[in-house]
Amino acid sequence: MKNRLKLFSKFTLLYSFLFLAAIILLSKIIDVSNETLFFSSAVILICYGVTFAFIKFELFKPLQELSKITTKLSAKNKNAGDLENEITDVNEILAELITYRDAKSKSLYIYNINNLLINVAERLSNDLQTAKTFKVNRNEFLGNVTHELRTPIFAIQLSLETLLDGAMNDKSVSEDFLNRAIKQTYRLKDLVDDLISISKLEAGMKMSKRYFRVNDMIKRTIDDLQGIANKKNITIEFNPGSSNGVSVFGDEERLKQVMINLIDNAVKYTNSDGVIKVTTEMKPKEVTIAVEDNGIGIPKVDLPRVFERFYRVDKTRSRDVGGSGLGLSIVKHILESHKSSIKVESEENKGTRFEFNLMR
Ligand code: ADP
Repeated sequence: MKNRLKLFSKFTLLYSFLFLAAIILLSKIIDVSNETLFFSSAVILICYGVTFAFIKFELFKPLQELSKITTKLSAKNKNAGDLENEITDVNEILAELITYRDAKSKSLYIYNINNLLINVAERLSNDLQTAKTFKVNRNEFLGNVTHELRTPIFAIQLSLETLLDGAMNDKSVSEDFLNRAIKQTYRLKDLVDDLISISKLEAGMKMSKRYFRVNDMIKRTIDDLQGIANKKNITIEFNPGSSNGVSVFGDEERLKQVMINLIDNAVKYTNSDGVIKVTTEMKPKEVTIAVEDNGIGIPKVDLPRVFERFYRVDKTRSRDVGGSGLGLSIVKHILESHKSSIKVESEENKGTRFEFNLMR
């Protein structure tokens, strides 16, 4: 306020000096009567008054009103920390700014400033909304992790307690409980590995991309998983079509992770004696890779959700076969980092097909 007064008094003082100088100069140069001098002074004073009124009502007042609305944006918010109420506050300010712009912003200059403030408020509202979504997701994620960790830990605890309660005196019973405990520790390890992968991917882990022979990588992956397929007498067929020897651009290790997760799922969710077909197909700029099984399939309603973290169609079955519920969401993340996406088609009791493209 003090500064504003200073500005106005400086402005008026300067104006009076200039005005006085002009009058003196005029009376020296030309011979004018006192009436003319008085009349021209009155005209100049009226001009000053009009200019002053224009500045006050067209610029100063609207700016004052806009600053009154927006001080709430910068003022220490009584709702700080409570995202829901903060969003409501910002949205109210936004609505006020829009109403003001549409009803009262007559000058273009004020209209533009008003629009800039609306942009700032909109961005703040969006950022708060994103922060709220993150907070909800984080809480949900933590809840899921705790639940997933608790299950195997509890099973291990139970096996060890049973052993201590006397089961260890019987060799075959103790072996059974030890096997149950060790199975759960593998499950824990897989879960922790998946959690590390997903947190690195979500933190924007850097991919180390280069050209590599995609079919060689797929063959190696199938060899690595042959053991678990054999246990269920499942055949894994690989058909590289005309794409043999083709190179794709990407992070080989991460893309191998994609293939492991897809083929491992195909084995897990296919009954004994099933067949898994892995194919690669050349396209003008890409290679299409598909993993298809003739397993239990995924119900239509669940299809859009299978890539969500911890989402499982059949919770008990997935846990029994050792699934963490993170496999497909890791696949989705890795492919997004390669500017690709995954498609899924499935029919219950017929089978499932996952497909994605890689740049070549
Ligand atoms: P999980 O570790 O439980 O396998 P994923 O994220 O890999 O978790 O998969 C999510 C869910 O999608 C699985 O629980 C399963 O219900 C379903 N699913 C994934 N792949 C297949 C498949 N090939 N056939 C049938 N269902 C599948």
